Amino acid sequence: MKVLVVGGGGREHALVWKIAQSKQVKKIFCAPGNAGIARLAKCVPIGAADIDKLLAFAQKEEIDLTVVGPEDPLSQGIVDQFEAAGLRIFGASRKAARVESSKSFAKAIMEKYGIPTAKGQTFTRLAPAQAYVKQMGAPLVVKADGLAAGKGVIVCSTEKMAMDALKQIMVDREFGEAGDQVVVEECLVGEEASFLAFTDGKTVLPLPSSQDHKPVFDDDKGLNTGGMGAYSPAPVVDQYLHERIMNEIMIPMVKGMATEGCPYKGVLYAGLMIDRDKIKVLEFNGRFGDPEAQPLLVRLQDDIVPIMEAVIDERLDACRLTIDPRASVCVVMASGGYPGKYKKGLEIKGIDAANRMRDVVVFHAGTSAKGKKILSQGGRVLGVTALGPTVDAAIKKAYQAVAKIDWQGVHYRKDIGKKALVRMQA
Ligand code: ATP
Repeated sequence: MKVLVVGGGGREHALVWKIAQSKQVKKIFCAPGNAGIARLAKCVPIGAADIDKLLAFAQKEEIDLTVVGPEDPLSQGIVDQFEAAGLRIFGASRKAARVESSKSFAKAIMEKYGIPTAKGQTFTRLAPAQAYVKQMGAPLVVKADGLAAGKGVIVCSTEKMAMDALKQIMVDREFGEAGDQVVVEECLVGEEASFLAFTDGKTVLPLPSSQDHKPVFDDDKGLNTGGMGAYSPAPVVDQYLHERIMNEIMIPMVKGMATEGCPYKGVLYAGLMIDRDKIKVLEFNGRFGDPEAQPLLVRLQDDIVPIMEAVIDERLDACRLTIDPRASVCVVMASGGYPGKYKKGLEIKGIDAANRMRDVVVFHAGTSAKGKKILSQGGRVLGVTALGPTVDAAIKKAYQAVAKIDWQGVHYRKDIGKKALVRMQA
């Protein structure tokens, strides 16, 4: 069969890498792809959010299955448009993707179906939002309702910061339409974890737990990024919490969405805050996380294509997942200066040497090719991913691979996975 993967980051490279292992797949296209993806798939120069062109391409090439990586095309209705044209596509419909594209929608569903989340309220006007901030007192979190590429969430340690954040979103309109509504909520404390599951709208098939590292510098210092690394499993989610997350969050959310008339099909991602035995949802995402997809997909031992097809056909109840018992770690190598300004077009050395290591895969994110050279082309450039018998061993292996790769100004965190080690030693 012919598969089209939509997107061009590290997550999409991991998806293409996994799909390429399927016996059922003859040819893979990726739009727009990157230099790493180009070794496994034919990259086509169509943007991930250019739905009309993607649809025309899929029809012309008679694509059997389209897999969507990023949130923008999902929230713009790529799944609805492909399905209306009779094409098979893996991802959440526009209505279902609102779990991510509208924080107020996600909050309302959570409230209605008793899913634990931070106490908060949604506002469309400034004065009542300001009054709520005064009433709640700091610390608080102020969130633009819509998608804002990870920048629309402002954690405020003082009342003044919260007032400034409201102005930034509602008056200065820094995030445009994403700021039409604002969610103000209590600031939660604890350790974050990511919990992802395949779902066909009825059955929920969980992947193992994982943990992202959003801030740019070690010890969670500096500005938030798209994610500087991830590992799986996250020991903060033990078997007891895993079951509770399924019973108190994932299953009720999927049931709730079906009851609301927008059944959720695809990958449902819950971003959680865990404080001993208290679990609360920080956010839902309507797709695989980036970089969580990288360590998760190297642990998934099954052919992913029949699982995606079972999601589309709503027969996930017949599927089981086989997970590699080893741990995996992905270290993101980024351009110096990211998430601020950075240089592009710098030659990267050592990728092949790292890739030759056993149990190591170098996933590309922002890269391009010039002849035989690989150049940096984005903020997050590579996701060096390794498997090991323990988290400790996987961390060591990932950093041995990282040490083989270099380019001018490269930056990466040195402490990916450290929280897991600390927790296991406690
Ligand atoms: P965007 O909507 O701009 O794309 P996002 O979806 O990445 O952003 P979230 O994941 O909801 O935003 O929040 C980003 C980070 O902010 C979280 O990973 C967490 O660290 C912090 N955060 C969000 N909500 C809370 C909260 N209620 N309490 C404490 N921290 C929070």
